[in-house]
Amino acid sequence: MDQQKYVLSFYIKNGVKTDMKRIGVLTSGGDAPGMNAAIRAVVRKAIYHEMEVYGIYQGYSGLINGNIKKLELGSVGDIIQRGGTMLYSARCEEFKTKEGQAKGIEQLKKHGIEGLVVIGGDGSYRGAKALTEQGFPCVGVPGTIDNDIPGTEYTIGFDTAINTVINAIDRIRDTATSHERTFIVEVMGRDAGDIALWTGLAGGAETILIPEEKFEMKEIIKRLERGQERGKKHSIIIIAEGVCSAVEFASQLKEMANLETRVSVLGHIQRGGSPTAFDRVLASRLGSRAVELLMEGKGGRAVGIERNQLVDYDIIEILSKPHKVNMDMYKLSTELSI
Ligand code: ADP
Repeated sequence: MDQQKYVLSFYIKNGVKTDMKRIGVLTSGGDAPGMNAAIRAVVRKAIYHEMEVYGIYQGYSGLINGNIKKLELGSVGDIIQRGGTMLYSARCEEFKTKEGQAKGIEQLKKHGIEGLVVIGGDGSYRGAKALTEQGFPCVGVPGTIDNDIPGTEYTIGFDTAINTVINAIDRIRDTATSHERTFIVEVMGRDAGDIALWTGLAGGAETILIPEEKFEMKEIIKRLERGQERGKKHSIIIIAEGVCSAVEFASQLKEMANLETRVSVLGHIQRGGSPTAFDRVLASRLGSRAVELLMEGKGGRAVGIERNQLVDYDIIEILSKPHKVNMDMYKLSTELSI
């Protein structure tokens, strides 16, 4: 990839060199708490540096259809604390085609937009990558509760989601204890076990099942039986949706060991709610950095956070890197739940 393609000529704007006059921002894919805080940061940072910002509504679908409106400082007032996304999100199959992408670029040009901030998950990043490859500078901001984007230790929305899950687990534990039952709690995470792992560890779960790690049913049964022999009357099993459905898992336990369990599938409550302070701060930092990169003429990047420092990587290269779940934490969770 020729990085030079994205390097622009410079003028000074409020202390920063750039010739960007107008940028766009969109949210795409699964929504996540903190996306609004990221939009706010993009808008305010751009206006601070004397640029205009256009909001593209309904993700790539809105981009193709020209659902684009100018945003002012006041457009993003009173949203930092709100879950969801004020720009709405949508899935758009058409954008996966060259024709769809060409329509998108046409709309961006029609509105005089010179750079785009894309807030979303890895699917949304692929859209940003496609635009970048066609010469339109995009910067990706990781917004997904799954925490599954390479090039960042945390994604916007993850912290809020795990706190929501922890709240639910604590309540489930109350009833599990009272009725001396085993509960199986299914959490989100099709390919990444981060939500299950963090909430399992923080919630004191006896067993955590994640897509990244194979498990033996016999081992889990042995563990449950061992606990029962020790007088343990209740337990919590956290299962990521990508492993298998909690209902299916419960019926396997019943079939193989005649173990009675209760199932709780948390579902979409994990995606909603007011973002935590961590997510708001993260979103503000990452959104702001994305604008800086566009101002510096560096399109085709993805921003992230590592060891509390802002980082950015080539959006094309980063998508080929696998997301890694923290296996030390997984090991610790098994040690602590003996
Ligand atoms: P997320 O961003 O949360 O992972 P999706 O995987 O649904 O969510 O992706 C969101 C949108 O990004 C898709 O509906 C589509 O418009 C766009 N997208 C996904 N993959 C590609 C691709 N390979 N090329 C272009 N656009 C894509």
